[in-house]
Amino acid sequence: MNYNIALLPGDGIGPEIVRSAVQVLECVGQRFGHHFATTSYLLGGAAIDAAGEPLPADTVQGCLAADSVLLGAVGGPKWDDLPGDQRPEQALLGIRAALGLYSNLRPARLYPALRAACPLRSELAEAGFDLLIVRELIGGIYFGERGRQPLPAAAGGPEAGEVAFDTERYSTPEIERIGRVAFAAAAKRTGRLVSVDKANVLETSRLWRQTMHRLADDYPEVELSDMLVDNAAMQLIRNPGQFDVLVTSNMFGDILSDEASQLTGSIGMLASASLGEGTRGLYEPIHGSAPDIAGRDIANPIATILSAAMLLRYSLGLNAEARAIESAVDAVLDSGLRTADIAAPSQPSIGTQAMTKAIVTALEDSGNAG
Ligand code: NAD
Repeated sequence: MNYNIALLPGDGIGPEIVRSAVQVLECVGQRFGHHFATTSYLLGGAAIDAAGEPLPADTVQGCLAADSVLLGAVGGPKWDDLPGDQRPEQALLGIRAALGLYSNLRPARLYPALRAACPLRSELAEAGFDLLIVRELIGGIYFGERGRQPLPAAAGGPEAGEVAFDTERYSTPEIERIGRVAFAAAAKRTGRLVSVDKANVLETSRLWRQTMHRLADDYPEVELSDMLVDNAAMQLIRNPGQFDVLVTSNMFGDILSDEASQLTGSIGMLASASLGEGTRGLYEPIHGSAPDIAGRDIANPIATILSAAMLLRYSLGLNAEARAIESAVDAVLDSGLRTADIAAPSQPSIGTQAMTKAIVTALEDSGNAG
């Protein structure tokens, strides 16, 4: 089969790590008989420099015409002094909106080979975890009405300051569409879904919970349970191995997914997917453009390579191909190879290109063995 993939390398280490992912995709194509046609578009600081704006119309059109999109990262000190609406990071919000992406999937897995990097007690690290957080991405309190009003001073009294407010709103259709993404993801994994809310306090959470339970009837293969967000934050530290898929609102998901990512101890390893209606998605590592290490061949390309694996699974339905990439990464880590960010203090490390080549070789080897 032929597939069109739009690449958004962006800034800093973005171009290096996207190049690595493309090398891996080319190898998957050869092994499984696919052709991945890739086209690069400008985004972020690179787009500001070349085209005067962080998200050129060409980029949006190219992404809309592609089967899916792979993004590196944007931003850097060169553009930090620009006004907020002209900064590279603005392109991220713009491209998510243009592609109608309302769900964010963030896996957090503790690799057995990297247990030492886990900040939890050794018996918890030993038990390991492999969970997926599904976060609603374009609703809730981050997008609700907000503002400030002067607080009237008591007669003759001193200035009383201001009142600020943010509003959380969720509609049944908004909850249903993120719920369906989560149920479908749980059905593809071990079939356990935890819906995280604050239904003991918030009305939006009560509608969230009610809607999730109604949806559960359509997914008899998935076992749904509820958890309050404060308990979920605690349980992630106490025993992350109990979770498979968690689904939650925009703000709760923002916080819990960062908490979960830290439990793996390695920002350079974590992939993410943003999905909307249809199969096209936006796939990217969770880290930023790491300007401090850009251009030095020391960035860890694995988060971007695993993002490409998610693209194959969720956008193109190529499960065996996605698993082949994940197994190649496992094999390389098991063999002891490390980039600097995941190497123990006394361990030697290899560069971006060498790590990419090792993963490509592991993919080829497993294909020959199979
Ligand atoms: P960052 O994630 O870029 O870097 C944090 C630290 O982690 C740095 O020390 C960096 O060297 C290291 N690091 C990150 N990715 C790595 C990798 N693959 N391999 C090895 N080490 C890695 O976060 P930051 O420094 O706060 O932000 C840098 C720029 O990235 C800023 O302009 C920020 O706005 C932008 N940013 C972009 C995105 C995105 O594009 N989605 C996300 C976060 C930050």
